[in-house]
Amino acid sequence: MFKKQISGLVLCLLLSYTAMAEAQCQKDRVQLQVLGSGGPELDDGRASSSYLVWLDNKALALVDMGPGASVNFGRVAARLEDLKVMMLTHLHVDHSADLPAFVKGAFFSQRQNDLTLLGPEGNDLMPSTDQFVSRLFGREGAFSYLSNYVDPQQNSAFKLKTKSVTLSSKEISYYPIGKDMISSAIPVHHGPIAAVAWRLDMAGCAITFSGDMNNEYQTLEKLALNSDILVMHNAVPESATGAAAHLHMTPSKIGYIAEQAKVKQLVISHRMTRTLHNESNTRRQIKQSYRGPVSFANDLDRFTPF
Ligand SMILES: [Zn+2]
Repeated sequence: MFKKQISGLVLCLLLSYTAMAEAQCQKDRVQLQVLGSGGPELDDGRASSSYLVWLDNKALALVDMGPGASVNFGRVAARLEDLKVMMLTHLHVDHSADLPAFVKGAFFSQRQNDLTLLGPEGNDLMPSTDQFVSRLFGREGAFSYLSNYVDPQQNSAFKLKTKSVTLSSKEISYYPIGKDMISSAIPVHHGPIAAVAWRLDMAGCAITFSGDMNNEYQTLEKLALNSDILVMHNAVPESATGAAAHLHMTPSKIGYIAEQAKVKQLVISHRMTRTLHNESNTRRQIKQSYRGPVSFANDLDRFTPF
């Protein structure tokens, strides 16, 4: 049913997406906030991957929810009642483990509207986002005591509505979020892991999130084209080889993609021991291709479009 609605809306959506993309960015209405700037390490003093997008002083979209995201969500006074969509780039622990904390936390909020969760389809190694949610909150799930949030037969103030994003085509797919925002996704290569990058368009501004990837698919530059802010993950140094390079992009690749996509501002996140305290080298390697401004993210940082 949801699929039919999506396909019926495609033309209309593409037109409004184009209109949004071409409109002047209303910079004072949009902000990116970093809830988690770290990776999976325990000793980095950072929450794991998570970002909030604010529109008109309301936190409307949450991208990834790694450990610590739920704590920082409260710390920045975001409200679950305002959230319109949650998006997962992939289902590694450092991007998804706080989902149950958000669902349980919602019990103590006044939320009445269903909450959309978008994330990748599954593959041989990973469950789909639909399966992930049912394995957590289904009647046989690890947190079956929260099954009323997914089971239509049970009463709850709202339902978690999940949609798995197709990985079969390396094209952009679009998801409308109310009347003010459009999210779009494209598959990215993160070794053997099912993964997507996300873009949000609102108020004439675009913010794109690479998630973890190594650019073997060369898809991100298409999704991120002309973005006001591109958040990219710096999990490995330029010298990375083997498994690390199969999973993650080097700083020079980050710079190449940002330049190809003509983004106005680059934010470097998912900072790990392998890359922390090496920022001057990383910046230099990025700057070999990309001429725009580069910032290194810390938890709770806010970025506005230029
Ligand atoms: Zn990660």
